[in-house]
Amino acid sequence: MKIVNTNGIVIKSIKYSEQDKIITVLTRDLGRITVMAKGALRSKGNIGIVTRFLSCSSFCLFKGRNMFVLKDAEFITTYPNIELDIEKLTYCSHFADMMMDIVQEGQSFPEAIDHFLYAIIHMNSANPNQYETIRLFFELRSVFIMGYTPRLDQCILCDKEINEEAYFSISNDGMYCCEHKPSGVKVEIHKQGIEALRYIARTSAKNLYRMQISPETIKSLEALSKLYVESKLEKKYTKMDMILSLRPKKDLPH
Ligand SMILES: [Zn+2]
Repeated sequence: MKIVNTNGIVIKSIKYSEQDKIITVLTRDLGRITVMAKGALRSKGNIGIVTRFLSCSSFCLFKGRNMFVLKDAEFITTYPNIELDIEKLTYCSHFADMMMDIVQEGQSFPEAIDHFLYAIIHMNSANPNQYETIRLFFELRSVFIMGYTPRLDQCILCDKEINEEAYFSISNDGMYCCEHKPSGVKVEIHKQGIEALRYIARTSAKNLYRMQISPETIKSLEALSKLYVESKLEKKYTKMDMILSLRPKKDLPH
């Protein structure tokens, strides 16, 4: 059997049998790969560690017919603060779920891998008040790097420069000025939201989480991101539902 060496991060780890696990690994060169890890559940040593969610390792694999088989691996790093915190873990599981759909099996997509790794690194050190900004920036940037970069500077209909207030059209991928309210699914968006969208679309993966936004902007981007992600990935992601439903509803009357 052919031997393949690659570095990657585990984004899914499931029990396959009493002793074995099947893991999904994101790699720069091979995209997303599926790996059978024999004895991973029995092992308290290296194989047990390298097959855990978000472990980064250098993998040595046999290339099987349907999936890779783990021969050996050298552990590189993991993100201990995420492992210990159920809320951080839920956010990162949600990011990993999206990556399962964005990065295809066997297709290299280094931009997506970098994007995912920066999100994980930031979640590892983030405070709870930063989680939602990280999630929204991660979600929107994910859709943008898939190729759906919306038109963010001028009104789609009249080319008028957009700065203060606008409508974001989900189906037409971009902004409409206030005089040209689009039909179909849209979200009203204000100055800081417009600036945030431009920042998310244009900054480097490394700098993505440096921007801070107000709670009002978070709210408008939440609506936009949910609709845009569901429309472009044609899927509802549910891992966040529990956490979001437990958040205090600040706007309710006392
Ligand atoms: Zn217009």
